[in-house]
Amino acid sequence: MFRIGFGYDAHGLVEGRKLVLGGVEIRNPRGLAGHSDADVLIHAVMDALLGALGLGDIGMLFPDTDPAYKGADSMVLLGRVREKMQGKGFKVNNIDATVVAQKPRLASYFTAMRERIAEKLEADPEQVNIKATTTEGMGFCGKEEGMEAFAVVSLVGD
Ligand SMILES: [Zn+2]
Repeated sequence: MFRIGFGYDAHGLVEGRKLVLGGVEIRNPRGLAGHSDADVLIHAVMDALLGALGLGDIGMLFPDTDPAYKGADSMVLLGRVREKMQGKGFKVNNIDATVVAQKPRLASYFTAMRERIAEKLEADPEQVNIKATTTEGMGFCGKEEGMEAFAVVSLVGD
């Protein structure tokens, strides 16, 4: 049993919000706007996991019209997705994700992000690859209006 899933997400950058990516607080003057903590990386990873499981997407599982998810810690939601994955008899084979952000430089946070995501998914950090790119000033990420993230996951049935 082998599954692949893909996830994508984007959020706008605003003043007065913390920037949280991959479950790690990032030093930055602005943060991502959203109903939850707007962790765009974790949202892409959750959508990839749910896609691999054939369970739709996070909007179906955690509707943003539900006040229960206002300000929600996305890592808690990731734990809920892990329970769904384990309930269907799957575990993570590997994850590969890219954050698109013009600023700040994220490389120094990758190790912490990998560890946090792996811990939450009961995987090894070596199975979770995180990277980042800019768009050289082009588009909404380049103009620092927002950030986006892409993730692919592969799962194996245990
Ligand atoms: Zn999101």
